[in-house]
Amino acid sequence: MQTPIQQITVGLGERSYPIEIGPGLLQRSPLFPNLPQQILIITNTLIAPLYLAQVKQSLAAHQVVVHEIGDGEAEKSLPNYQAIMDTLISHSFARDCAIIALGGGVVGDLAGFVAATYQRGVTFYQIPTTLLAQVDSSVGGKTAINHQLGKNLIGAFHQPHGVLIDTDCLQTLSARDYTCGLAEVVKYGIIADADFFTWLEQQAGALCARDTSAITQAIKVSCSIKAAIVAADETEQHQRALLNLGHTFGHAIEAADYQHWRHGEAVAAGMVIAATLMEQTGQLASTDLHRIRQLLQQLGLPVEAPQLTLQQWQDYMQRDKKVKAGVIRFILPTAIGQAQMIGLSDWQVIATAINACSS
Ligand code: NAD
Ligand code: MG
Repeated sequence: MQTPIQQITVGLGERSYPIEIGPGLLQRSPLFPNLPQQILIITNTLIAPLYLAQVKQSLAAHQVVVHEIGDGEAEKSLPNYQAIMDTLISHSFARDCAIIALGGGVVGDLAGFVAATYQRGVTFYQIPTTLLAQVDSSVGGKTAINHQLGKNLIGAFHQPHGVLIDTDCLQTLSARDYTCGLAEVVKYGIIADADFFTWLEQQAGALCARDTSAITQAIKVSCSIKAAIVAADETEQHQRALLNLGHTFGHAIEAADYQHWRHGEAVAAGMVIAATLMEQTGQLASTDLHRIRQLLQQLGLPVEAPQLTLQQWQDYMQRDKKVKAGVIRFILPTAIGQAQMIGLSDWQVIATAINACSS
């Protein structure tokens, strides 16, 4: 049976937008309602041979220009930003054009920042092609490029007008990229939805097998949770920070050992440290810690951090943007389906949890 297309809305008043999820969406024409004549597609050299022809066919009635960047995180750069601006200006793109990002989080973040700033902001659409982009980066309006001195240092909030998630794109994704996206899916269950977490436990096999119906449901619930959090706190003044569960520990792991650890893997190990800290201090049931570890393991994600010195952990975590006056504000689970921001300055407690999860 064909999996039906799911639709949810990010409710932001006049700037509300739909997210559509399901197989075969790239073949739909028009891809989005009311598209203007002038369209710039931003994609990369790896994704273009796979999906660009289909997208161009679905936009056959429009004047389409394509800007391709290279592959990888380093492409989210100021030189690429400048090169895309050159493309827009040299093709005389007007303020009523639209920019479409076709790719993973790198393409989406860069294209979004271009859209946020070209002529003070133009219409932007996301066609995310990695699981991470489909459940996380394409929704919520954070856009950014990197500076030589740090990731995402230059950016803006700029919400898309629509997000089109064709689940068929995931079939060509590498095993490692796919598994990394699942870490963020598990995160949503832990911070906001115990029933979803239980469903993930039941569907772990189907998700690993990339079953279309299971994937579509997992993306739909993940996007609904992110949409609700973004609608309540668009610019991360309070509860949007819950989306950072596992990320303070995870960023330290990524920064210390970036050659071996991908973001989703580091977040998985970080979520286990966060849960362990709460279990050790009597604020999380042991069964919940066990279930978190077990689900991540079943999905093929790491549940142990690498051996770093306490000094390394301190250095990397104190650089995190969630540090205020020496107190690190962690997002920590109090139950499956619930998390809180808790400020900690007692390194003994933090180190005990880290040590219990390091190999
Ligand atoms: P990515 O964009 O580099 O994609 C991962 C790899 O998959 C790349 O090699 C890419 O070319 C390839 N790829 C993409 N789609 C494919 C497909 N369908 N088939 C085969 N290969 C495909 O990385 P990512 O994990 O998607 O995103 C990471 C980026 O997202 C980071 O820069 C991070 O900062 C950003 N991010 C942003 C937000 C946000 O809210 N804006 C949230 C989370 C992460
Ligand atoms: Mg993340």
